[in-house]
Amino acid sequence: MKAQLPASVLPEVAAFLGESPLPGVIGGQMAMAADGKTFCTCDPGTGQPLAEVAAMLAGDVDRAVQAAQHTFDTTGWPQLKPNERGVLLHRLADAVERRKGIIAQIEALDAGKILAQAEWDVQNCVDTLRYYTNLAIHAERRSPLAIAGHEAWTVRQPWGPCGFIFPWNFPILLAGWNLSPALAAGNTVVVKPAEDTPLSTIYLARLAKEVGIPDGVINVVPGFGMPTGEALAAHPGLRRMSFTGSPEVGRLVGAACGRNLVPVKLELGGKGAAVIFDDVDVPQTVESLAQAITFHTGQVCCDATRWLVHKSIYDRFVTASIRRLQQVCVGYQLDAAAQMGPVVSQKQRERVLGYLRRGREGGAELLLEGGPQEVQGRAGFYVKPALMSGSLDNVAAREEIFGPVAYLAPFVSEEEAVALVNQTDYGLANSVWTRDLDRAHRVAAAMVAGNSWINAHNIFPHGVPYAGVKKSGMGGGVLSVETLFDYFRNVSVVRPL
Ligand code: NAD
Repeated sequence: MKAQLPASVLPEVAAFLGESPLPGVIGGQMAMAADGKTFCTCDPGTGQPLAEVAAMLAGDVDRAVQAAQHTFDTTGWPQLKPNERGVLLHRLADAVERRKGIIAQIEALDAGKILAQAEWDVQNCVDTLRYYTNLAIHAERRSPLAIAGHEAWTVRQPWGPCGFIFPWNFPILLAGWNLSPALAAGNTVVVKPAEDTPLSTIYLARLAKEVGIPDGVINVVPGFGMPTGEALAAHPGLRRMSFTGSPEVGRLVGAACGRNLVPVKLELGGKGAAVIFDDVDVPQTVESLAQAITFHTGQVCCDATRWLVHKSIYDRFVTASIRRLQQVCVGYQLDAAAQMGPVVSQKQRERVLGYLRRGREGGAELLLEGGPQEVQGRAGFYVKPALMSGSLDNVAAREEIFGPVAYLAPFVSEEEAVALVNQTDYGLANSVWTRDLDRAHRVAAAMVAGNSWINAHNIFPHGVPYAGVKKSGMGGGVLSVETLFDYFRNVSVVRPL
């Protein structure tokens, strides 16, 4: 299969895609599925095929877990001094940074991401690799314990093969967030990227080989949720599992890990709110929230999907929001003028349009209509930004839409605003917008979620834990010092004196 690629595509990207069918990576070798079957990954901006990719089966997943175990047992990777492993991981970060333009184009083409955002994601992956590599070099591996009558200490060891299943919205960024702490701690990994966006993960595993990371440290098993993801989640040879995706699949993965008593980290969906008080600069706040809801076409787990606006500024806020979102330039993700690209697939476009329809049928008002967007010469999966309002019991206010849609409602008191924020099964991220920092701190503490942002939305500094509660996740989260320690198992050693 030869993809029709835009003229701006780099020769290295064309060469990579031209290798189609693209194999996974098992034990450092390019690996096709045992039955030779492949699946097609598309450019969401054109709807055209990009490449065929190996569709791994349960037996292939088993080969990958065995390769990860073999590497863990025989290559000395877990026993490397932290600074020796650090050299290799910094080399990987260097290689990713050097190929930033290439990986960003691969990511933009595969996920429908605006190129500048894809570049940001790749840089974030580099920064995360460096953050955990440096942290691991300095992390204490042996902690003496002051226990009367005993000599005692704990030692931290890597677990062994760790499994990862990822969604399609931030493939390379999530590889950075999740694989970096596991690798820096000395584990080996088996990764199942999303079927919509497998390409950047395969490219990353190839770079790992190129910089001298031992074969089998990073294994990639592309394929569908079933059978590939299901087989990985249920594999008894894993020592840890990390899943990022929907709560529905998260439950299945959690149950499969539970049956094998494999510790699991679940990073799941969200229905975040922004609480906007009447002392804000309205144009500035509208600008920030418009950027938040159009960032990667609203396909962001922690997005500000419910805008709760103080009654006294509600009408002004609505008018300014409509005007601002009408100006968003929806376009092909590699076009410099495009501010918002397509959603990832036809299925995702139908999901977004379905929520607009069902929300309206349930009594919500469409303040800004949204709907399908035509982009000249491109038969991709484009939608317009939309604003809805009405009862927060509406399906569009309760469920995760995963598109550029915000649901607005007025509030009168601080207590009411907090109650409305917390009226959800999700608990990932919310924001509060006000000049009054005392009030901001009170509201930030009262909103039930893993993350509360003040006068900002979608911010992820390294070192600040990022996690969800309720339907949004369990197991400790990502991005912090604690995440590194999740990838060590503790051994307590004690000798009576
Ligand atoms: P999804 O749950 O449908 O799929 C996620 C991954 O699970 C994919 O790789 C898929 O192939 C795999 N999968 C599907 N069925 C499986 C099964 N039975 N067993 C094992 N694996 C299976 O999610 P999605 O549509 O790819 O992504 C969107 C979701 O991800 C949203 O809910 C979003 O909020 C969430 N998300 C959360 C975070 C976070 O950090 N909390 C980050 C990004 C995305």
